[in-house]
Amino acid sequence: MTLVGIDIGGTQTRVGLVSRRGVLLASHRIATRPEYGSANLMKLVTESINSLINTESGSTNTPDRVSIGLGITGPVDVRTGIVTNPYTLTGWSQTDVLQPIRQAFPTATIAIENDANAAAIGEWWTGSGQGVDRFAMVTVGTGIGVGMMVKGAVWRRSDGRHCEAGHQVLDPNGPVCYCGARGCWEALASGTSLKHRLGNIDDLDHPIARDAIAEMGYWIGLGLVNICATFGPDRIAIGGGVSSLLSSLLPSIEQTLRNHRVMIPTDVPVGGAHHGDNAGMIGAAYAAYGLASDAA
Ligand SMILES: [Zn+2]
Repeated sequence: MTLVGIDIGGTQTRVGLVSRRGVLLASHRIATRPEYGSANLMKLVTESINSLINTESGSTNTPDRVSIGLGITGPVDVRTGIVTNPYTLTGWSQTDVLQPIRQAFPTATIAIENDANAAAIGEWWTGSGQGVDRFAMVTVGTGIGVGMMVKGAVWRRSDGRHCEAGHQVLDPNGPVCYCGARGCWEALASGTSLKHRLGNIDDLDHPIARDAIAEMGYWIGLGLVNICATFGPDRIAIGGGVSSLLSSLLPSIEQTLRNHRVMIPTDVPVGGAHHGDNAGMIGAAYAAYGLASDAA
């Protein structure tokens, strides 16, 4: 079985070859450019998959058994593969992203997930969520995505949709989010909001930058308080583009959690994602591999 995991974000797409033990073997990066349409991107993705598996096998023939999993930003119907995300993938409304993959790899086992769910699966499989009964994965980058798992199964709506905890409202008087609401978690605590707070300051030791990071940590922590209050995780992992700032953010995240510990069980370990930005590819690969008969 050859495992492929794809992670489609609003800015970049990554295609990876993953071992059956959950190790990323090789990967390619592609600029997503959503304005050029999904057909354009998926053509590049299928070419990338072919290149990766041909390099691995040393042959131009597609291996007999391939599983291909795709994690994608925003709302997706995991049963049909229809993506409805005009927000961060401009123009992608009711878009079938799997059809080009099915056409190119007709015998492959194929799965699709929201990208935060894919990252949660990747960390649960071989990362910081291994053996954790109730695991929350929070990806903080351009936006905020949350994937939650219970005993190895993604926690989702009964119709298959993702719960969108990144759009929990933390401040009804806060900044307007692209979803139309005010003060969503991702409008207050994403990497995009940090950029707004930093303005043109790029020295992270500057007092304004330190305040901006502490404020971001406060808002990240407040969202985690709500996740503790409603989901009751045993462990929380933070990944995504701001992982590199995690050590600076953690003091204010942990202080905020401590400040709410009287009634809410916020005494939960919080740490970085073991696989960093690769968690989504690894988890997407597992989502398809898990459907195939010889998965562990
Ligand atoms: Zn929102």
